[in-house]
Amino acid sequence: MLINKPKALLWVALCMAAINAPALAQTTAPAPPENPNLKIYRATPEKINDLVHTKLDVRFDYKKRFMYGKEWVTLKPHAYKTDSLRLDAKGMDIKTIAVVKAGKNTPLKFTYDSLSLNIKLDKVYNPGENYIVYIDYTSKPDQLKVQGSMAISDAKGLYFINPDSTVKGKPVQIWTQGETESSSAWFPTIDKPSQKTTEEIYMTVPSKYVTLSNGKLVSQKSNGNGTRTDYWKMDLPHSPYLFMMAVGDFKITKDVWKGKEVSYYLEPKYAPYAKNIFGYTPEVIEFYSKTLGVDYPWNKYAQIVVRDYVSGAMENTSATLHGDYVQGTPRQLLDRYYNTAQGESTVVHELFHQWFGDYVTAESWSNLTVNESFADFSETLWAEHKYGKDEGDAHINGDRRSYLNAPDAATKNLVRFYYNDKEDMFDVVTYQKGGSILYMLRNYLGNEAFYKGLNIYLKTNALKNGEAQQLRLALEEASGKDLNWFFNQWYYNAGHPILNITYGWDAANKTQSVYVQQTQAGNAFTLPIAVDLYVGGKKTRQQVWLRTKSDTLTFKVAAKPELVNVDAEKMLLAKKTDTKTGDEFAYQYANAPLYLDRLEAVTWARNQASSDANGRKIIVAALKDKYYGIRIEAIKALKLSNDDVRNAAQPILVSMAQTDPNNLVKAAALNALGGLKASGNTTLFKQALGSQSYAVQSAALNGLAALDPAASLTMAKGLEKDSEGDLSQSILNIYAANGTDAEWPYVNQKFEEADAQGKFSVMRNYAAYIGRLQSSAYALQGIEQIKATGVRYKQYGVAPALVTILEGIKTQRAKDEASVKAADAAIAALK
Ligand SMILES: [Zn+2]
Repeated sequence: MLINKPKALLWVALCMAAINAPALAQTTAPAPPENPNLKIYRATPEKINDLVHTKLDVRFDYKKRFMYGKEWVTLKPHAYKTDSLRLDAKGMDIKTIAVVKAGKNTPLKFTYDSLSLNIKLDKVYNPGENYIVYIDYTSKPDQLKVQGSMAISDAKGLYFINPDSTVKGKPVQIWTQGETESSSAWFPTIDKPSQKTTEEIYMTVPSKYVTLSNGKLVSQKSNGNGTRTDYWKMDLPHSPYLFMMAVGDFKITKDVWKGKEVSYYLEPKYAPYAKNIFGYTPEVIEFYSKTLGVDYPWNKYAQIVVRDYVSGAMENTSATLHGDYVQGTPRQLLDRYYNTAQGESTVVHELFHQWFGDYVTAESWSNLTVNESFADFSETLWAEHKYGKDEGDAHINGDRRSYLNAPDAATKNLVRFYYNDKEDMFDVVTYQKGGSILYMLRNYLGNEAFYKGLNIYLKTNALKNGEAQQLRLALEEASGKDLNWFFNQWYYNAGHPILNITYGWDAANKTQSVYVQQTQAGNAFTLPIAVDLYVGGKKTRQQVWLRTKSDTLTFKVAAKPELVNVDAEKMLLAKKTDTKTGDEFAYQYANAPLYLDRLEAVTWARNQASSDANGRKIIVAALKDKYYGIRIEAIKALKLSNDDVRNAAQPILVSMAQTDPNNLVKAAALNALGGLKASGNTTLFKQALGSQSYAVQSAALNGLAALDPAASLTMAKGLEKDSEGDLSQSILNIYAANGTDAEWPYVNQKFEEADAQGKFSVMRNYAAYIGRLQSSAYALQGIEQIKATGVRYKQYGVAPALVTILEGIKTQRAKDEASVKAADAAIAALK
């Protein structure tokens, strides 16, 4: 699964900070008391019965939001004979439970507490002896009392989207979300990842809709009553949480990989762009198949994009489901680069799960690392392959930052047998830290042994389950190396090294010393690293091991090195303080080859005074860096308030704004120039408004707005019709700041469509705009939007700031009784 909630939360927090700092301070809760759930050892659930095969026949009641299901589930006792069966079944009406013998149903006795079924079988069954249980049931997901989590905002299992068509223009859809244990909300099963079952589903749906499920679409039969029954079959076993169904008005675009169908299910509006959005999928399947030495294991691969999804995306076996942010028109896609938008990295993440997660599945949530750390790592793998080492390095660096900056991540083991809730396993430790650890491990073992190890792990545990110990054994077999120390340190213990690096040069003995202190609490980490010494323009590499809290490395060299580059491969997941001089950073930028070598230098330069010659040299050079991410960082690092810097940088920025191959660099250059408010740039901005890139248009419009607000209002009018993303945000800002009633319908619509970041960044101007609207009806719409936003993000502590904003609107509209009343109602709803 790919989660996107924490990011949204972060944006809300940041944006609220901008609106009202004291309100944010109130949201910082005191340390919670010790949670008793954390004392529970989360054992892998015992297998008493094993799932063997699951056959379902389902139809839907859109009005009641019910699903009527018939199930024939084949099971067998695992190791010991038994006469009873426990199944997970959440919030269902159970009509019949029977054992099926020679086509005849014999009813069975059972008890049901709305969460699990305890069934008394007709006799004692022996280990390995199959039996079939028939269940006639109704699934009622909307009446289920369940709690979502940070990663997955709901746990109903089965979702009816706009089933009564009450929201105009919004598609009518049904889709499912199984992970973690929500599939049992739509069919009784043993809802644990350690279970695996083959599957077949008959889905009866309105004829106008298409369906998607796991495996192969075997047949479609029209029922002559406006419905059709689709028959899907999955002939390899997989875990219940990976079951899926989707129903709706989707257009299917077909592709192929080695004779297997690859398909993209999109809303009709986006179907013409299916290949723009997903067209690289066969290439990724090929790359992962080759890298792992195991061909894509399932008989087809489909991707579907749905509305109102409760997380980022989900790797249902052979049928991945995406949230709608992955969709885009060709113009929107122009501004999405690998490391600046989630779309492509999500596609490759879910695809890698088809091996790590679906083919071999984590045996328990405690071992979720063998699913999610791999999927996270695969994002970097694809970035390196497709876009080069800089893009990959930037991606893994983003992972490390996410983990290192997360408040309590350093206290959690990667493999965790103690947690509050299984959903809590979906965090920066399992994803970003785990991905970073695999990245280090690949470097330590070398590509060949590492991928051989993954191959052994996949083949040994194919269609079964795995845990971190099996991964260790496979990697040890492939490499011939002992890896207990590595797994104990990184998988079964918490935290990371915090390094303090200093240097000493002994001219008499021509000896370079490097002192590395590990200042974290607890034990020292064992760290194999490379150290590059640059002497007389020549680089030599030394492989060394850090093993203690205070290591001294000494190197005999011909002369004082221009640069000593510790962790020269930039592999470590660590916080470090590296005390280098400006000369050394300048040398590092110019000579050390990696993305992080250059980024470290730019980051150092950004923190220097504008008069620092080395700092300026680094930033000016970095404006021409080969990687767009560094060029953007360099633009941000420019201190344009300094006359010399501005005079040197302005022509470079103008050239970047016009000719840089990357739209986001162009936009960053335009934004920097816009900040100068120099009327000489008016023509440049006007030209840039003709760009196909919304980001470039947005930056140009912002630049013009700073020079001439009235003129920018007119220009915004002209751009309004085809505005998405950054551009619509700029127009929204301009209208909110200077608009009249005429612009309200656009603002109202775009505000509603905006994500949390978009809403909160415009909130102040938006409220002022509502205050000065002539139309009372419009003002009521605006107040309603603020209320809805407040209710939606209330849990993140936004209410006090929004109450202040609503009070402001009340003051401005004191003579408009209806608005005052509505604002009072909104305030009451937020209290
Ligand atoms: Zn995932």
